[in-house]
Amino acid sequence: MSRTFVGMPAFPEAAHEAVGNRTLRRNLRHATHTIRAKRAKAVAEVSDWAELREAGRQIKDHTLRRLDRYLVQLEESVTAAGGTVHWAADADEANRIVTELVKATGESEVVKVKSMATQEIGLNEALEAEGIRAYETDLAELIVQLGRDRPSHILVPAIHRNRGEIRDIFRSRMGAWGRPAPEGLTDTPAELAEAARLHLREKFLRAKVGISGANFMVAETGTLVVVESEGNGRMCLTLPETLISVVGIEKIVPTWRDLEVFLQTLPRSSTAERMNPYTSIWTGTTDSRTADGPQTFHLVLLDNGRTDTLADQVGRQALRCIRCSACLNVCPVYERAGGHAYGSVYPGPIGAILSPQLRGTQSEIDASLPYASSLCGACYEVCPVAIDIPEVLVHLRERVVEGGPVTRGGNKVVLKPAKGHAAERAAMRAARWAFSHPGALRTGQRLVSHSRRFHPRTLPGPGRAWSASRDLPAVPAEPFRDWWRRTHGGKDTR
Ligand code: SF4
Repeated sequence: MSRTFVGMPAFPEAAHEAVGNRTLRRNLRHATHTIRAKRAKAVAEVSDWAELREAGRQIKDHTLRRLDRYLVQLEESVTAAGGTVHWAADADEANRIVTELVKATGESEVVKVKSMATQEIGLNEALEAEGIRAYETDLAELIVQLGRDRPSHILVPAIHRNRGEIRDIFRSRMGAWGRPAPEGLTDTPAELAEAARLHLREKFLRAKVGISGANFMVAETGTLVVVESEGNGRMCLTLPETLISVVGIEKIVPTWRDLEVFLQTLPRSSTAERMNPYTSIWTGTTDSRTADGPQTFHLVLLDNGRTDTLADQVGRQALRCIRCSACLNVCPVYERAGGHAYGSVYPGPIGAILSPQLRGTQSEIDASLPYASSLCGACYEVCPVAIDIPEVLVHLRERVVEGGPVTRGGNKVVLKPAKGHAAERAAMRAARWAFSHPGALRTGQRLVSHSRRFHPRTLPGPGRAWSASRDLPAVPAEPFRDWWRRTHGGKDTR
């Protein structure tokens, strides 16, 4: 079983530890720079990328505004196609539903397609507590599971591992989970992939129950879509007799036409491919005598904080996310801190805005996440559904500051980071006063301009470290409003 994120320290503490790990930094730098360069090339090939991005944004916003209607339509479509829909308000309810469904089949093991939603609810751990073993079949998830590790990237959960580490994990741990690694296994990619293939094949052929998430659900036909690169998902979706899919309610799109947009933007943004190697699409159940696919299909629709997120007018845009991970790969903070520091299955910029909304900002880790960013905006630039992550981060910082005490392990602790917040609050109060007193603002601006020769080049006190590596912006010789009046001959509009 992989370790969970429960009890992780706040971001600054966890990141501090990660930044000191040279191997981790080297692994992350190499991987993120490689993926980001490939993505940029793949996106540049598409002449109407900006239009596709805007279409994706509009489709998601339209769907989220009418989510109640589309979810009911989806339920009717899935039911009509032979599936059964279950509604789960939170992680506990979803885990209970899935556990009971597996138990009803009489099976004690399941194969899994890579799924963020099942990681979010801790499904593997919940199944294990009931004596059911869940086998991850995605190569990177397999590495994480065998290494008793935690995922650190949305798309490449074992991005923090290099080939040598993976070889060692396979050699030492595969035998405990089934077929051992071949004798003399080296760290060449082909050998590692073959070892995983042999290890997983016996599980695919034996499994009677598969568990998946979905990238998209099409409301008009009740169709689910999984995109992947390895083919393990296709095996899990077609071989077992029973399929249970746990999917967040925001993964819905109204029509197949809408799906067309995301099947263009997702592969280029995530793996820099023009098209996903495997796009598995299924609707309800199949007759085993005539077709591949599940004879029994259950869809568990997961809320777990999503409707609360939807109620926040600024924060709701996080629900547009299609989990491409492009924002992680360009983020300077993620590149140095790694994914574990975010204390959630959703790391990087999207994790910094999604986790505090799904879980609330009352815990120390969630209250620290909106600060895990330099607000450089690179994440927004690459996001294929135009989520303005910096805007949401600033909005969530406000929520943290206004929200009162945070907790660690159920106990209240001082609002974190207390010093920063107090200074920030004082600065904001001063700014509010100045902007609501234009006369004083104008006098202050002139004073600052006239005394610019005497301004220090570095900040005093606690600001010294900040200004030691930065140039303070130059103060203009003349305030903007004076310049405007002089050059345009008009009045100060205040
Ligand atoms: S926020 Fe945007 S860039 Fe980041 S994972 Fe989601 S869709 Fe991709």
